Amino acid sequence: MYKKILIIFLIFLISGCSKEKPKTKTVIEYDDDVKIAINYPITNIRKVDNYISNYIDNVYNEFKNNNDEIKSKELNISYSYDLIDNYISITLTSFISVNTEAHPTNEVYTIVYDKNKNKVLTLGNLINDNLLKSEIPKLKKQLIEKYKSCLILERIDSKINTDLKNYNLFSIDKNNINIFFNPYEITNGSCNIISLTIPFKNNSKIEEVIEIVPNIIDFDLEKPAIALTFDDGPSVYTKKIIKLLKKYDAVGTFFIIGNKAEQYKDTLKLMYEYGNEIGNHSYDHKWLTKLNDDDLSEEINKTQNIIKTITGFTPKLFRPTYGSVNNRLKKDINLDFIMWDIDTRDWEIKDYKKIASKTLSSIKDGDIIIMHDIHERTYKALEIILPKLKKQGFQFVTVSQLKELKDVIN
Ligand code: ZN
Repeated sequence: MYKKILIIFLIFLISGCSKEKPKTKTVIEYDDDVKIAINYPITNIRKVDNYISNYIDNVYNEFKNNNDEIKSKELNISYSYDLIDNYISITLTSFISVNTEAHPTNEVYTIVYDKNKNKVLTLGNLINDNLLKSEIPKLKKQLIEKYKSCLILERIDSKINTDLKNYNLFSIDKNNINIFFNPYEITNGSCNIISLTIPFKNNSKIEEVIEIVPNIIDFDLEKPAIALTFDDGPSVYTKKIIKLLKKYDAVGTFFIIGNKAEQYKDTLKLMYEYGNEIGNHSYDHKWLTKLNDDDLSEEINKTQNIIKTITGFTPKLFRPTYGSVNNRLKKDINLDFIMWDIDTRDWEIKDYKKIASKTLSSIKDGDIIIMHDIHERTYKALEIILPKLKKQGFQFVTVSQLKELKDVIN
């Protein structure tokens, strides 16, 4: 008896223009009280990578060494990346939350690099004095409109003026120069990072429309089935994993981090096209049970939106970061929470053969298995796991398919 799981989505999508993408380095460390998630780009441009690693090292060391008496604390660093003509623009956002303080500390750090000149730019390299002068009244207007509630009015003139030294923090995208001020520079700290814009030359290109039709896979209800799940990607290894799965007629479920989606658009499209399921693992991998309602819904909704925009698919599944759940999270996140039956411990075990043998020794019909597609060893372990399990008659299905299969059986 066959149950045909037929999912066809005919979706028109917007595919972005091709960009050079940096690799993302991900560091996730945690115990019961301290959670650290850091994502940063490796550009292979020595100057830029030095700037980034100095910043990360400083923030990380300060976080580790300070507040020793504090019980529960979190560090999260995420980044955004833009390539506009010969300019690379990187914005690193750090978020530190400690249980002794009411508000988390947010901070932004920026690098704009000119590839032709091999130079890290200041705002003065992009904008001349006259243009800046003409923008000052508009910047003040934006500031007051957007951040009225937290402004320290007497600081405005000393920060928004023609002195370029005030604008160390800026990024560029295809439409704007974005100028940032960290909390407490012009505000009393109840607002987050301040962001103002000056128009930048417009390079928008006509975008191609494509459609993705996911693979249709037949499953045999008589045979055992398991769901392989992958957290914390996409990464440089994800595409290899997707292709390996396909080789064994397998599909998996990828709980992705939203802030990495943009740089791995092609990977996400292929993931979806090959019939894999995409789930939500938050935008920045923050410790979600600690966030306020607004920040929590942003972490979830931004990720839903970016996956929808790239693939046309709207995730239905959610995996909590750090496996940390409470009643509020369950109430506020309107997605199915998916935990796991088997932890491969691929985040801890460095030897891929051990990951494979540990996993193979414990798997049974109906299991959900957690892996992380940010390690090469996970790929190598799968090269062992997939053929062995296939030979034993296992089918590899998505979490939603597994739920459907088991529902039919039960
Ligand atoms: Zn995770």
